[in-house]
Amino acid sequence: MSLIIYLDGKYVPEEQAAVSVFDHGLLYGDGVFEGIRAYHGRVFKLHEHLVRLYESARTIAMEIPMSMEEMQEVVLETLRLNNLRDGYIRVVVTRGKGDLGLDPLKCPKPTVFCIAASIRLYPEELYENGLAVITVSTRRNIPVAVTPRVKSLNYLNNIYAKMEANLAGVSEAIMLNADGYVAEATGDNIFIMKNGVLITPPAYIGLLEGVTRNTVMDLARQQDIPVEERVFTLHDVYNADECFLTGTAAEVIPTVKVDGRLIAGGKPGKVTRKLISAFRELTKVDGPLIFPDEAACCCCGS
Ligand code: PMP
Repeated sequence: MSLIIYLDGKYVPEEQAAVSVFDHGLLYGDGVFEGIRAYHGRVFKLHEHLVRLYESARTIAMEIPMSMEEMQEVVLETLRLNNLRDGYIRVVVTRGKGDLGLDPLKCPKPTVFCIAASIRLYPEELYENGLAVITVSTRRNIPVAVTPRVKSLNYLNNIYAKMEANLAGVSEAIMLNADGYVAEATGDNIFIMKNGVLITPPAYIGLLEGVTRNTVMDLARQQDIPVEERVFTLHDVYNADECFLTGTAAEVIPTVKVDGRLIAGGKPGKVTRKLISAFRELTKVDGPLIFPDEAACCCCGS
């Protein structure tokens, strides 16, 4: 079935949703994007994703040609037109059409598009049994060159790492920063539990400050689990009591094997399981309703 796509002010069938070969998003990876989820008729953490989109755009000195409120409406309307209550939304803003040189000044107007589609999740089995990952040799981009805090269209750094993971036969990989500290996974943030404290690296060491990451830290604090943002090494991961990854697509996924070492005896830990269920509960009630006339069910949010 053909999807309806938002593209530069119009909602068009996907066959007509085409951008120019002179678009600098395509020619140079010059642009920013967001991946967002809809659950139970609501758009989860929509505001937080839009804040990050506009902050990413500001850092690359690109002005998104609409307000955040208008962008929120684009996301909701794209979901409505595709009759989606659950799904994955991709909002993309590129530098726009220019010439073959890289100068952004030659691009008068950013291109904006929004896709809403169904999502294929990791199989439920992985949430129950956990994921095996490796550490790859590709280091995360250094923040003083291309800051990983910008969710930019240039994902080559992560794609290098993903290829290394693929070649090793695993689906995710841990990336270190240039100093050898654990940064994040190719498309997810990383957490460890040690002696009752939940630990994740601080954004300034060079990682994307995930919306799911921040949500999980809030959920942990609500459950009186101490949370620390601090640097750690692979030694800390290998000796962690628990480990998990977080991301919009992956949600909260237990990580039970790292570079051949079993974590927590190779089973998802207690805190990880608690956070998975707290996260799933939150998806039922957080975010604006896609179809505002639908009264949300008071017990399950659906
Ligand atoms: N790190 C990277 C590199 C990512 O691309 C993503 C998003 N897929 C994340 C972390 C997780 O961020 P979020 O929870 O906002 O999806």
